[in-house]
Amino acid sequence: MLKYLLFDLDDTLYSTSAGLMEEISVRMNEYMMTRVGVPESEVAELRQFYWRKYGTTLRGLYIERQIDAQEFLEFVHDIEIAKYIATDPRLDAMLTQLARHKFIFTNAPASHARRVLAALGIAKHFERIFDINFIAYESKPTPSGYAKVLSALGARGDECLMIDDTARNLVPAKALGMRTVWLDGNHDPRTAEGCESADAVIHTIYEVEKMFH
Ligand SMILES: [Mg+2]
Repeated sequence: MLKYLLFDLDDTLYSTSAGLMEEISVRMNEYMMTRVGVPESEVAELRQFYWRKYGTTLRGLYIERQIDAQEFLEFVHDIEIAKYIATDPRLDAMLTQLARHKFIFTNAPASHARRVLAALGIAKHFERIFDINFIAYESKPTPSGYAKVLSALGARGDECLMIDDTARNLVPAKALGMRTVWLDGNHDPRTAEGCESADAVIHTIYEVEKMFH
């Protein structure tokens, strides 16, 4: 019996086409150039390397360049969210229908997650946000964070459903026995890596509901 629903935040609860993650990505580049001193010509390649080796740009910078992670998180998320996303009554209605315990599991800080949830008008549905601080910067898809989340919930893997637009983030979830849903929403081959670990594939977040029919 599925009791717990774990939702990724960015590019999952709102569409990639909203452009919010793109703006965050631009700010990450800016941080690397202005605060870390990475030449502009090397930023993209270095981020790709960090993404492969450590999972996220933050984790790469944290481990290899010893950056102040909190300062980085504040800098890259210093964005006017309302410019990118608006309330989503359809999503609100769907979440109301899903009579399960709902949580956010994100590589972003909770402060960002709260602002996004407020802008979408869906904050009330989520009992807790498991953020990058909760998992001690061991960002998805590092397996340790998933075990921490299960332990905090007092849940078994097979009681959980996880939804994420980055398919490789589902691999550790699947290994722990969770049911996994890949939101294939942006046709970026990087987000498709690991998609064989998905039990189901959806193309918009509104399709989560059909998992329970
Ligand atoms: Mg995402």
